[in-house]
Amino acid sequence: MSGRACTLFPRTLELLEPMHVVDGLMQTGWTGRTYAVYRDGEHVTRRAWQSLLPLMDNSFHNYVLNIRQKRSEEIFAARYKTQFDRAVYHGWEIVAYKIDTSLGDGYNITADISHVSLGQRAVRWWVRIDGRMKTNMPETNLAFGSIESQTHGNVLWVKLDRDAHRIGFALTPSLQAKYPDGLTQEDVVREATESLKPFTLEIERVDWWTQYNVRQKVATTFQKDEFVLLAGDAAHTHSSAFAQGMNTGVHDATNLAWKLSGALKGWYQRATLETYSSERRAAALKLISIDRLAASAVSGDIPTEYQRPGLTAEDALHSIFETNMNFTIGLGVSYDEVASVLHTTPTATTLLPGTRSPDALLHAPGPRVPFRLHDITHRDSNDRWSLLVFAGSYHRTKPRFVELRDKATASGSRIARWNHLLTFSTIILDTVGSAWEAFDGPALGKLYFDTDSLAHDRYGVYSDHGAIVVVRPDGVFAFAAALEDLSNVEDYFAGICA
Ligand SMILES: Cc1cc2nc3c(=O)[nH]c(=O)nc-3n(C[C@H](O)[C@H](O)[C@H](O)COP(=O)(O)OP(=O)(O)OC[C@H]3O[C@@H](n4cnc5c(N)ncnc54)[C@H](O)[C@@H]3O)c2cc1C
Repeated sequence: MSGRACTLFPRTLELLEPMHVVDGLMQTGWTGRTYAVYRDGEHVTRRAWQSLLPLMDNSFHNYVLNIRQKRSEEIFAARYKTQFDRAVYHGWEIVAYKIDTSLGDGYNITADISHVSLGQRAVRWWVRIDGRMKTNMPETNLAFGSIESQTHGNVLWVKLDRDAHRIGFALTPSLQAKYPDGLTQEDVVREATESLKPFTLEIERVDWWTQYNVRQKVATTFQKDEFVLLAGDAAHTHSSAFAQGMNTGVHDATNLAWKLSGALKGWYQRATLETYSSERRAAALKLISIDRLAASAVSGDIPTEYQRPGLTAEDALHSIFETNMNFTIGLGVSYDEVASVLHTTPTATTLLPGTRSPDALLHAPGPRVPFRLHDITHRDSNDRWSLLVFAGSYHRTKPRFVELRDKATASGSRIARWNHLLTFSTIILDTVGSAWEAFDGPALGKLYFDTDSLAHDRYGVYSDHGAIVVVRPDGVFAFAAALEDLSNVEDYFAGICA
């Protein structure tokens, strides 16, 4: 059975780009840039929602994508099948496992598995219903609609893929008392209709509904016995208040994939794989701390930290949302406060290690068609590290660039030890006919032009100085050094590679 997520945020789409599934998601889902909040049938201004879209402008995916998880999983599974000729196995439980490296087959684990059926218990209950719906609410095709109801908590209205919408509401104490044995589909339709009042609602077709429990949990570690790794809901569960579960699962998977595949190929030291657990568990703990507050406010309870005279649960919810917006849309998820072998203080640029590497439009020699810097660092990186040589104004940086190129390409150079896991690119501010015009020789890797200087600015590179910027395979900024300090970059890789 598929999960029930419907909203994907900008960073999740960026992280999924190397998997070549984003086009399919966009063609199938609903891209939304509209929000509305209603109270007593009137449109109200809530700063938190209105500020969300401008914040997304840091990404070229400056929208939310609403797609039911059944469909996104179909797209992932189809890609997995096309690329690897493999299928996902659902419903198999690991009953026991043992670490066994003696076979030398690289798998290191022998597991006993059996087929399972699942159960669940309740703490706080919420309801969601998907289907074709008719209403007199002024705007219906909303990325997110929020109805501030007196009786059903903060009611969620979402435009989904195809012709469907989703309504969500909390089973408040009075609703729980009304339905002590739980709700039937008929009850859910009736309460959904009530929840939208004073607007009318007719549910013409029910695709799916659920009454589900909400609680917050994080596994004590995401890595056990070196080779057992937890990700997604298996590692952390929480409410769907800010639509985080699947988004966070994608952050987990893309953080883990390159470390695990590199570890299996023998590229990295053991501590590099261990950063998966430390980085992602810290992010999950942050998410849980936000979710405790949000889930309470969505259910109509004011969290203790927010209790002030005159402040409603709705006010608290919007305040929680506004404070944590950048984290919620994923662009602000970072590992800069996690102690890790991947974090060495950069000796150039102004970026914090462990934060998202910025995107910008570049040009390549030839056609004047811009393309995204993330195409180099994310989409086409093939699980390799990106070494972006920002050479700024080549008239000024040429001697240092040439010296760097000579060092990097000299036979027996130290950096060449890691050529199998990294890709060089050279980015200059001006346009030239070829790299030879700028540097009396080739670029390091491919040559690109940052004609409006936005890439240099976003990475905090001075045009007179330039810098070597190291971006992880998952598009996270790792390290930077001056053009003349290639040895700092080599030290960085020596610290994490086998
Ligand atoms: C109503 C609702 C709305 C949501 N909306 C959003 C949203 O808008 N955005 C968002 O990001 N997230 C949302 N979520 C959360 C999202 O659905 C989950 O976080 C996501 O499905 C987690 O994916 P997963 O692959 O980690 O786990 P799952 O989707 O749960 O997949 C795990 C699979 O493993 C199987 N399984 C479980 N236990 C065992 C076992 N012991 N042995 C073998 N197999 C097992 C399950 O049957 C399932 O197929 C929502 C959740 C709900 C309930």
